[in-house]
Amino acid sequence: LKEEYSQRNPRSQAMMAMAENWMPGGNTRSVLHFDPFPLVIERGEGAYLHDVDGHVLLDCVGEFSAGLYGHSDPQILGAVSTAMASGIVLGAPNLYEARLAELVCERFPSVDLVRFCNSGTEANVLAAVTARHVTGRSAIVVFDGAYHGGVMTFGGGGNPMNVPFDWIVLPYNDAEQVRKTFAEEGRRIAAAFVEPVLGAAGNIAGQREFLQALRDETEKSGSVLIFDEVKTSRLGSGGVQKQLGITPDLTTLGKYLGGGFPLGAFGGSERIMSRFNPRIAGNLSHAGTFNNNVCSMAAGSMGLSEVFSEEIADAFLEKTETFRQQLDRDLKALSPRFHVSGMGSLISIHLRETAPERAADTTPASLAFRRVLNLTGLLSGVAFTGRGDIFLSLPMTDQDLATIRAAILKTAGEYGALCL
Ligand code: PMP
Repeated sequence: LKEEYSQRNPRSQAMMAMAENWMPGGNTRSVLHFDPFPLVIERGEGAYLHDVDGHVLLDCVGEFSAGLYGHSDPQILGAVSTAMASGIVLGAPNLYEARLAELVCERFPSVDLVRFCNSGTEANVLAAVTARHVTGRSAIVVFDGAYHGGVMTFGGGGNPMNVPFDWIVLPYNDAEQVRKTFAEEGRRIAAAFVEPVLGAAGNIAGQREFLQALRDETEKSGSVLIFDEVKTSRLGSGGVQKQLGITPDLTTLGKYLGGGFPLGAFGGSERIMSRFNPRIAGNLSHAGTFNNNVCSMAAGSMGLSEVFSEEIADAFLEKTETFRQQLDRDLKALSPRFHVSGMGSLISIHLRETAPERAADTTPASLAFRRVLNLTGLLSGVAFTGRGDIFLSLPMTDQDLATIRAAILKTAGEYGALCL
C-alpha cells in the first residue's frame, strides 16, 4: 500500500522532502506526520480537500475536529471579511467578543463567565492554574491516555513536554479508583480534568457512573471538576455536560469554536471566574495579545449563532450518532470483534473481544487496522487521520456518509482478518 501511495503522490512527496530542509520532519505539527509522508493540501471546499497531486479527498480529518463547519461556509467567510475590512489588530475590546461570550454562556450549563485565549492547550493550562489558585492545593487528577494539549499529554508514560504539575494519573472509566483516590488524597487535589469522550486514545465514551463519581468526589473534597470539552462541545447544543446533566465547575473549549481560526476558552461559575476581574486587587492576571482577535471572535459568533445553532447542533448529533451505530452493526456483521467507539461525529474503530473502556484497551490490532484504513482511504479518495480518527463535519451529505461507510467496510472486509 505504501508503494502505491508514494507513486500516486509524487508532488506531495517532493514538497515534504524539500520542507525537511527547514523544519524537523518537514512540518510544524507532529500530529500531521505519518509514514511514508503526509499529503500537502492545496485547498478545501465544503467537505472536500484537494491535494497538490490533483486528487479530491472526502475530508474525515476535519482538522482534528476544528473543521466542523467545513472549508468554505459562506456565513463564516462573510463574517470574517466584514470584520477584517474594519481593521484586524485593534488593541481594544471589539464588536464581537461580548457576543461570542454571551453565546458560549447561554449554551454550556457550567459556564456563567468565560475568558478567551488562543488554543485548547492554553485554555487547559489556564484552567489548571486557576484551580490551583482557588483551592490553594497542588495535585491534579487526569486520566491515562488523555490529551489536554501539547503540554498536558498522558499517554504511554511521562511526557517531557508536560507542565511540571503534581499529576495523579488514573485509568479512565474506573469509578472505583476515583472514589479510592479521593478518599485517600482528596485534601491535596486541586482539580480533576476529564474529557467526557477520551479522544486521542481512541474516542472512548465516558460512562455516566464514572463521570458522576468524579462530580460527587470533587464536590465532597472541595476540588475543581474540569470538563475538557475542546472536542466534545460539538456533541449537541451544550456539549456532553448538557446531555448528561452533569455540571462541572470549569469547562474548556476550543477547536471549532473559532470557526476555523485559533481560539480557546475556559469558563465556569462566577465564584471561580470572577478571580479574573481586573477590578479586584490581587486577582489573577490573564494577558494575551490575540485573546480577542477579531477573526476568531467574528467567525466564532457567526458559527454559534447561525452555522451551528442549538437546533442544528442537536440534529447533527442525532444524525451522526445514527451513522456511528449503523456502522457498528455493519462491521459487527463482518466480525463481532469490531467496535465503533465514540459519540456522534467523533468516531474510532477498535478491533478486540469487548468494547473498549480505557486507553489500555486500544489493541495492536486496532492500531494496525487504523493504519491500513488511513492508506486505503487516501488511495480511494477518503482522508482519515494518520491515527485513524474519523471526524464528521456539517457539510457532509448522506451520499458522503455512504461513501465513508463503504470505504471502511471495504477495508474491513479485505484487511480486518489480517490485522487480528
Ligand atoms: N484538549 C483536547 C481534548 C484536545 O483534543 C485538544 C487538541 N487535539 C486540546 C485540548 C488542545 O487544543 P489545541 O490543539 O487547540 O491546543
